[in-house]
Amino acid sequence: MSKKVTLHEALNILKNAKNVILVSHVSPDGDTLGSTLALAEGLKQTGKKVTIMVDDVISSTYSFMPGIGEYIHPQKGQHYDTDLLVVVDSSSLDRIGIVEECVKAPILNIDHHVSNTGFADYLWLDDTATATGQMMFTLLKEMQVDITLAMAICLYVAIITDCGNFKYSNTTAASMRAAAELLELGVEPNLVSDFIEMKPRKNIELLCKVLNTLTFFDDGRIGIIEINQEDYNKDIDTDSFISYPRYVEGVEVAVMFKAVEPEKTRVSMRTRWIDVSKIALSFNGGGHIKAAGCTIEANLTEAKKQLVTKIIEEMRANK
Ligand code: AMP
Ligand code: MN
Ligand code: MN
Repeated sequence: MSKKVTLHEALNILKNAKNVILVSHVSPDGDTLGSTLALAEGLKQTGKKVTIMVDDVISSTYSFMPGIGEYIHPQKGQHYDTDLLVVVDSSSLDRIGIVEECVKAPILNIDHHVSNTGFADYLWLDDTATATGQMMFTLLKEMQVDITLAMAICLYVAIITDCGNFKYSNTTAASMRAAAELLELGVEPNLVSDFIEMKPRKNIELLCKVLNTLTFFDDGRIGIIEINQEDYNKDIDTDSFISYPRYVEGVEVAVMFKAVEPEKTRVSMRTRWIDVSKIALSFNGGGHIKAAGCTIEANLTEAKKQLVTKIIEEMRANK
């Protein structure tokens, strides 16, 4: 189990390292990327050698984020020396992919997932934070570094990603205040939103296909969409697709299934009331109470059967 640390203890751990590797989680989203990029900049200002890594493709949605080109994709069999590995916005070790084998160093985990497994040596966890980006903003202010516009943009992207532009139940006065401060530092929300919401045509073409798969279970309380293996393309950002089943009247749990390999199905869940982080954990995944994910080692049809059965069970048990 991790040693739980406070913000100030986390700061001290960072202060004592000269050479730091920061890692974002696989299937990288705006929170893990923005939090990592902002911390990297802050640490560089204090004179540290900083490397940022991710063991996955970064969606072109995030190409506009300052510093995104500096990510290293670790190679199997390579070893990267460092004093400290900082794991950002990840609740379990498998979320960092092969970085687990490539970097052997003490781990500081900065995270906000209720499902955190306590895998790191040191864990600064705030499951009341809207996004890891909000925690990072607090940390950077305590570090007394200059929060540049580039860092502010990254932190803003992190926050809005995880609360759906202040729409979800994890939106708080504190995250809105953080965003307000970021606007005072020069962030222009309309420009950020244009970058994030503007999609290549192929995204919308895929969305058209995926909407045709919209299916309901349990008298319309569960709404699902799916991407079969033929249509699955790692380079197409599908993160926003789940909002379609999510906002159908009567749907209490929305699920998106992606057949990433013949016997491997990625699952995203969004809910109004049951705890989907628990369901995700039972399939070795994780997340938040109302937004969670997992990967099921089965084909799409089988994964769908297993997961829908589990959701119906949970709904019955918690009525
Ligand atoms: P997603 O549905 O991929 O947007 O993920 C929703 C939330 O669950 C995010 O906070 C993710 O970091 C988390 N999550 C998704 N997949 C996994 C997984 N396989 N293991 C742990 N956490 C996950
Ligand atoms: Mn994330
Ligand atoms: Mn997050």
